[in-house]
Amino acid sequence: MKFNSLQKPTSRREILRGSAVLAGSAFLAYLFPATLLRASAVGYAQQAPSPAELLASMRAKFNAVPMETQKLADNVTMFDGPGGAVTVLHGPDGKFVVDTFVAPAWPKLQEALGGLGNAPLKYVINTHWHFDHTDNNAHLHAAGATVLAHENSKKDMSEPHDLPVLYRGADGALASLHFDPSPAEALPQQTFAASYELHANGETLRLQHVPPAHTDSDIYIHYENANVIQMGDLFFNGMYPYIDPGTGGSIDGMIAAAGKILSLADNQTKIVAGHGPLGNKADLAKSREMLITSRERIQKLKSAGKSALEAVGEKPFADLDALWGQGIINSDQFVPIVYLTL
Ligand SMILES: [Zn+2]
Repeated sequence: MKFNSLQKPTSRREILRGSAVLAGSAFLAYLFPATLLRASAVGYAQQAPSPAELLASMRAKFNAVPMETQKLADNVTMFDGPGGAVTVLHGPDGKFVVDTFVAPAWPKLQEALGGLGNAPLKYVINTHWHFDHTDNNAHLHAAGATVLAHENSKKDMSEPHDLPVLYRGADGALASLHFDPSPAEALPQQTFAASYELHANGETLRLQHVPPAHTDSDIYIHYENANVIQMGDLFFNGMYPYIDPGTGGSIDGMIAAAGKILSLADNQTKIVAGHGPLGNKADLAKSREMLITSRERIQKLKSAGKSALEAVGEKPFADLDALWGQGIINSDQFVPIVYLTL
């Protein structure tokens, strides 16, 4: 019996998966969830990290970025680093926090918030459902905050999802990153469908949902008096953005969202990107131009009948890489992302 169990019968499905992966190029990793690749790796199981291990390594990578503090206004402070940018509106009415860093950065975030005075935590706002923006929801809620987000953030966090091409292993192979549903204590307690306003500490925070762009749950936060707009992952400053085809992301939506913020901003507006340094209107305009160029080139290849793999092989962003391909996402990831969302 024990000997037999070592020779597990291989189903036709497993053979198909296995041969596809063994015969195919690394590009299969772009389009197949990590779980599928793992299932196919008969005999290689010990080499394939589990989805939990992949996610832990992604969290560790984000957490390794040092935190920097920048004052955006008398009562608005930005903490930038371990999982993107967090802003805080602070004052006698309490602290209003936007985004949360990754889970391992909680002690750093807790200490940073403590440095902004003793007023109570009131709200934490999620710009969208992704882990690097929501990971510390439960901690912040336990510390007294109400978690506020678009209704799709709650929906997306409640479901399992696979995010294509997000993970890049040490060998350069790309895979999807798998997410299990978030525990109940991490979900937003309060949601809205279109827009929401908060008034505190002499400031008005306007929260506005946009049509599907980076995900289907994106909002931007406009600090109206401070002239600050926080875009979450609607803006990756100085680098190719990630766009999440698994929850409705679309390059057209990214271009439209950038256009919307450009129409709201003036030359003094501080624009907080989800990833990358603090930006301004000129930075966002340049990013939007890059998105438009990328979209045109991939649409041309797709319309000509090229597969996503062939589109990668064409190296259509070779002239853009020096400027835009040095961040979180390189062009081997960005080409299939754009392709998948067109
Ligand atoms: Zn995101």
